[in-house]
Amino acid sequence: MTDEQDDMTDQDESRPLPEPGSQELQELVPDAETRCVYQVLYESPDGPLEMGEIRRRVEELMGKANLQMDRRLRSLRTYFEVPATRVPGQRNTFVYPLLGWRPDAEQRTARRAIRAADRALTLHSYGYRCAACGRSPKEDGVKLVIDHKVPLDLGGTNDPENLQPLCVEDNHAKQALFADYEENAGALRRSMTLPEVHLRIGELLKALSGQPVPKELIALVAREENQGDPAKRLRELRSLGWKIPCSKRKDGRKVRSFYTLQHWEPWPEQGPQAAVARLERARRRAQRQQNG
Ligand SMILES: [Zn+2]
Repeated sequence: MTDEQDDMTDQDESRPLPEPGSQELQELVPDAETRCVYQVLYESPDGPLEMGEIRRRVEELMGKANLQMDRRLRSLRTYFEVPATRVPGQRNTFVYPLLGWRPDAEQRTARRAIRAADRALTLHSYGYRCAACGRSPKEDGVKLVIDHKVPLDLGGTNDPENLQPLCVEDNHAKQALFADYEENAGALRRSMTLPEVHLRIGELLKALSGQPVPKELIALVAREENQGDPAKRLRELRSLGWKIPCSKRKDGRKVRSFYTLQHWEPWPEQGPQAAVARLERARRRAQRQQNG
């Protein structure tokens, strides 16, 4: 008889996997579609499934098609072991068993918490004022909370550069804005992580094509210093041939701007930044010639 102890991995087997509908899973995996993939993996009594079958079951449960399975799976693998496993004797068939927690899942969970020092540093560097409205606890009696500029669920980190103080009111407004686009979390995450501001804004608008997109959401996805100038970026996209009319709506005492993508052009080969800069140079040259 052989000693099977040697085959044990150092995975923590005492920690049970969260139930699909549990609070624990919801906190870990805020995206509903990703939780649905988890549920399908968790509840496959006849053994692990192939990707096509996982997709079919998830689409049935969610009641919609064209889900980005790769992304959902990647997101689950932050905490769980879900290896692609070749079916013995079949060259190109893989199944996806949910084996358990990743060995480093604890550290990864802890990573969501902001360190006290970073919290203090953030408040200090913003002069103890809300980054959106400028109000302070001392002068205006508001309560400040530490906000992730790019939310963790959308690929943001706990790095101090991604932190800012917001008053409770502005923090709620931001949460409400994102909640309106919960269905588009995948598109938001994808746009926010692109390397260039025109790509980030453009891909967001493409994902929400035909819908009026509030300026605040564009500013958030643009990720520019001090909220940037979304209107300028949209003018630049228009100079590349995009049609993005602006509409204004009254919202209480505020007038809010919305942008609706009606037509877009493929990204220029040299990248939008270079294309915009070249158009700008040509425009200035034409202006100089006109002025003699
Ligand atoms: Zn505020």
